[in-house]
This record gives sequence, structure tokens and C-alpha cells, in this order.
Amino acid sequence: MELTAGFEHFVRTDEPLAKYTWLKLGGSAEYFAEPTTIEELASVVKRCRENDIPCRVLGGGSNLLVSDDGVPGMVIHLSHPVFSGIEVEGNRVTVGGGAKLSHVVSTSVGAGLAGLEALAGIPGTVGGALHGNAGANGVDIGQRTVEAKVMTRTGEVQTRTASDLQFTYRQSSLDELVILSAVFELDSADSQELTRRMQKFWIVQKASQPGGSDAVGYMFFDPPGLSASSVIEQSGLKGTKVGGAEICGEHANFVIASPEATANDVRRLAELVQSRVKEVSGMDLKCQLTIW
Ligand SMILES: Cc1cc2nc3c(=O)[nH]c(=O)nc-3n(C[C@H](O)[C@H](O)[C@H](O)COP(=O)(O)OP(=O)(O)OC[C@H]3O[C@@H](n4cnc5c(N)ncnc54)[C@H](O)[C@@H]3O)c2cc1C
Repeated sequence: MELTAGFEHFVRTDEPLAKYTWLKLGGSAEYFAEPTTIEELASVVKRCRENDIPCRVLGGGSNLLVSDDGVPGMVIHLSHPVFSGIEVEGNRVTVGGGAKLSHVVSTSVGAGLAGLEALAGIPGTVGGALHGNAGANGVDIGQRTVEAKVMTRTGEVQTRTASDLQFTYRQSSLDELVILSAVFELDSADSQELTRRMQKFWIVQKASQPGGSDAVGYMFFDPPGLSASSVIEQSGLKGTKVGGAEICGEHANFVIASPEATANDVRRLAELVQSRVKEVSGMDLKCQLTIW
């Protein structure tokens, strides 16, 4: 059976991926699915499994470097509203994996619930944030996660409760194919005071990122006790360029991709930074970007 048979209304072929990523780079997905129900999601995952087709999930694309040659197999995008609900009940907020993290933060703050406001200004979706335990200002998303629903590579929906969940620095035990939803347990607080705190975090976060409409990527994990940005700066790498990819002059852990850049330029720039940092300080910087 043709892989897309019966799925024509939500699966496309040869979909250019650059527009879905913050780096605005890379080739096309062989198949691209935007399911409109959980049943459609399960069917496409099962069909791929039966046909040995690799599957990946795209969130907000803020941590992705897509290869210039594109991506074989299926890329699933949880863009339909069915995957991005946000529900507040008492101190718990239940959110879909496709919801924007920024919406979840502002909804929680508006409901007078504290615990996520320090994450204001981190781009991407809840699924992407949980996958990589995103964090800022000493807080990470895992600290408030008490439950998650996932879809396995066989298309089965499972629930992970607090005792199954492990979060460490930019890592989580949620490594199933799809993070469908999560529950955050938060603290009651004054909404106006929280709003002020969130705004401060947002300003600090934005001040630590390149501004404007540049195509950007956040390159390396911080080494223990240090910031990747200062390590790169101290290695004299600010402003270093490979092709159209350049280390940001103001915030050295960001790469800026010009319209002429290729994904290969970014990959080669990351390798150059890694080898120069190793030479200067003996440190191994680990790439934060997920490379497809
Ligand atoms: C300007 C800028 C600032 C940033 N600042 C920070 C920061 O302060 N702190 C920080 O931690 N990170 C930061 N990042 C990195 C990035 O924003 C985070 O890693 C973010 O959580 C990625 O989410 P996403 O939805 O964009 O994921 P994507 O980039 O789309 O995907 C990243 C990974 O998550 C997986 N994934 C995405 N959604 C799902 C899902 N529903 N189910 C299963 N897997 C999924 C993908 O398959 C992929 O492996 C920054 C990036 C940029 C560009």
C-alpha cells in the first residue's frame, strides 16, 4: 500500500522544512504529516512502523538543524489545535505537546500560578521543552512536571507519572516518539506580582539573545559551572564565520545564519568552535542543536 493512502488530507510529500526552523535552513521532509486528531497521529505512526519508515517530531524548530539534503521518512508536526490545549484546574495546568511554551507561561501567570515564569522568552513548544528539559534562570521545565502522556513508536499512548520521570541538565527521560501532553503542578501566587516577575525574566532572556529577525540557533550546552558563551568568547571566536554562518558578536553561544548560509556551514562552524575551544581550554563543548 502507498504510504500516504488514506492520509492525503494531512500528509504531504517533499515539504521544505527551512520555514519551520529558527535557523531557516535545510532541505525537505520526504513525508510531512499534520494530523488533526490523535487517531490520525496513531495511524500514521503505525503505518510508518509497518513500512520501516523513520519518524521524527517537529516542535517549534528552535533547536533544529535540518541537513541540506533534507530528511528521509516522516516528519510529524503537531500544528493542529487539538495538540495545543491549555487547561487550568486548581494548581495544575494540563497542556498539549504542541502548545507554545510562551502561551503556557503567560496562561499560568494570568491564573496566579507560579513556577514557570522563569521560562518566559524560551522559544518553542512544550514537547520540545520537555524533550530537552529546557530551562533558564536556574529553573527547568522538568521541575514542575508531574505527568506526561506520550505516544510510542508503535502508536500506543502511555502515561508517565512522576516516579517515571527524570530530568537533568537539558535532558529528560521522555524519549518516546511523541510527547502528547504534560501536567505541571504550580504554586498559588498573586497574579500581578507574578506578571511583573515574568516580565523581568522575559527582558533578561531577550537581552541574552540576538535581536531582530535574524535566523539563529543556540549552539552548545553550558559546560558544568560555566557558560558556553564565555568559553567561546575567551577562545577568541566571537564573529568567526564559515560561509554564511557566523558566531554572534554579542552573544557568542548563538549562530546567525545569513540568507546565503547552508546547514553545512553551521555544522562546520560548530566543529570549528569545538576544535578551537578544545585547543585553547581543553574543554569539550557539546552541541545543543538537534541535527536531522
Ligand atoms: C533564540 C533562542 C533562545 C533559546 N534560549 C534557550 C534557553 O534559554 N534555554 C533552553 O533550554 N533552550 C533555549 N533555546 C533552545 C530551544 O528553544 C529549546 O531547546 C526548545 O525547548 C526547543 O523546543 P522546540 O519546540 O522548538 O523543539 P524543536 O527544535 O522543534 O525540536 C527539538 C527536539 O525536540 C523534539 N520534539 C519537539 N517536539 C516534540 C514532541 N511533541 N514530542 C517529542 N519530541 C519532540 C524534536 O524531535 C527534537 O529532537 C533557545 C533557542 C533559541 C533559538
